[in-house]
Amino acid sequence: MESTKTKILKLLRSEKGYLSGQELCEKLGVSRTAVWKYMKQLKEEGYQIQAVQNKGYCLVDVPDVLGESEIKSRLTTKWAGKEVYFQEETDSTNTQAKKLAEEGAVSGTLVVADCQKKGKGRRGRVWESPKGSSVYMTLLMRPDILPQRASMLTLVMGLSVAQAVQKILDSEKCTQKVQIKWPNDVVLNRKKLVGILTEMSAQIDYIEYLVIGVGINVNTGEFPEELQDKATSLQAELGHSVNRAELIAQIMKRFEDNYAIFEKTQDLSGLLEEYEAVSANCQQPVKVLEPGKEYTGIARGINKMGELLVEREDHRIEQVYAGEVSVRGLYSYV
Ligand code: ATP
Repeated sequence: MESTKTKILKLLRSEKGYLSGQELCEKLGVSRTAVWKYMKQLKEEGYQIQAVQNKGYCLVDVPDVLGESEIKSRLTTKWAGKEVYFQEETDSTNTQAKKLAEEGAVSGTLVVADCQKKGKGRRGRVWESPKGSSVYMTLLMRPDILPQRASMLTLVMGLSVAQAVQKILDSEKCTQKVQIKWPNDVVLNRKKLVGILTEMSAQIDYIEYLVIGVGINVNTGEFPEELQDKATSLQAELGHSVNRAELIAQIMKRFEDNYAIFEKTQDLSGLLEEYEAVSANCQQPVKVLEPGKEYTGIARGINKMGELLVEREDHRIEQVYAGEVSVRGLYSYV
């Protein structure tokens, strides 16, 4: 059920001029006092709403406010983001999503935070998560697929994020191309823009739940020194800020559509073409870093199971499983 606040935001955004208090009361089925109270709350959250006597209300500026109503009012999905849990600050959205999953939260629940104190990368690494500038979100799912196939959903999410970000760049007439560095990074200008971390709770043949965490550097001003050459943000590349709630909504839509394609075959066969088109690794020399094993080769793309195909010097093709492996360009990070 959509909350009244979510409905007000939708109405205000779709109205070019003023929306009268009377109209709002009728559309929402609430009193004038209630409308006034909601407007007061929204103003406190940072929305610039002008109230003019005999005219009504007008949203003069849509700030980059991140909150449950702001996100919900932009979502156009059927199940992805069905429930939104927003926190100003959290340890890690993956940790929160797992907790909610244990408590019975529905598949499609989306956890979003404005700041993470213990943002996670793979193998216990840290994901820098400053407040007020980026997207940290985790989608909880209870997919009816085998646990061995779960890592493919990292790739489906990567593709969805890449497509949503590319759409923003295209609409701004920016000629840059977003790429995916297999398996879990989205890069722009050969620097890391997005990190994805999938975790699950599963039995041998059954997934209890799975959480896909996504960290996106959206309006990040400055990175810690060790990341300065390796990381970038949308703001850094575009020269202006991007609305985070809208980006989240676009990603959820892409993910829902891509997941529907994935679900038909429970593999990536229907998405391979799109994936290869945005792959940063394809036909590139790469170094594969597997726990206890390191080798080089040429990346030849991925197969329908999401494995990276790496051709070694003796022309043998290695099928690299997207579990705990890292891939580097031979001469740089990508
Ligand atoms: P690899 O580069 O080995 O493939 P990875 O993609 O598995 O690594 P993750 O574990 O997903 O990396 O992410 C953690 C790493 O990402 C950190 O070790 C750090 O180098 C980098 N990092 C941390 N925070 C950010 C950030 N906000 N933006 C970009 N990169 C970051």
